[in-house]
Amino acid sequence: MEAAPEPRRSVLVVEDEKNIRDLVCLHLGVEGYTCVPVATDTEALDAVTKQPFDLIVLDLMLPGVDGLSVCRAVRRGTANRDVPILMLTARREESDKVLGLDSGADDYLTKPFGVRELLARVRALLRRRTVDASAAVPDGQKPIVYKHMEMDPSRRRLRVAGLDVELTAHEFNLLYVLLSQPGIVFTREALLRKTWREDTFVTVRSVDTLIKRLRRKIEKDPANPAVILTVWGAGYKAADV
Ligand code: CA
Repeated sequence: MEAAPEPRRSVLVVEDEKNIRDLVCLHLGVEGYTCVPVATDTEALDAVTKQPFDLIVLDLMLPGVDGLSVCRAVRRGTANRDVPILMLTARREESDKVLGLDSGADDYLTKPFGVRELLARVRALLRRRTVDASAAVPDGQKPIVYKHMEMDPSRRRLRVAGLDVELTAHEFNLLYVLLSQPGIVFTREALLRKTWREDTFVTVRSVDTLIKRLRRKIEKDPANPAVILTVWGAGYKAADV
């Protein structure tokens, strides 16, 4: 069955190079997206406080500022804290920086990129978001208690030592998988499938990025995790209870 036409989605395009900014907006516009083009980090941070976006396309190299710092600032805000962010990088090596560190970016595209690749990434990120929303209340998943943490999937709520901790849908899914089976080692591929389901554009490094974000939120000392343990050469597990 063909999907029904989607409502117009809004995309914030942050790119100081006018040619690229215009090109991205032109093609997203043709595809039916509404673009808000801006050239600087200041304009970008101003825009994200004013309205929620469905996606942000963000250049890594902005004048005088690192796109990653813009990324983090967006994540700290409220209106767009869960928005998918597609980072544009100039070189292949920079992509490691984007997804390898805890930047908050969801995917990247190396310049020069083709229009079809851009549109494919955009669609994938937006589809992933739709899956997220529909998976917000996983069927048949029961609340679990793990040490000092409680997870309630029907409310998508995590409490750590009695305090609410905000998680994105992906973070919640991933943590739920790990905590519901303490001691079981999950490969990155398995966690990828369970967290993102059918989206094929996500790489296993997204799992590492998500684990880093989760550790910052739930571990007393994120550098020496006591809950989510790395199993070298295998994957991740929740520490035995
Ligand atoms: Ca630039």
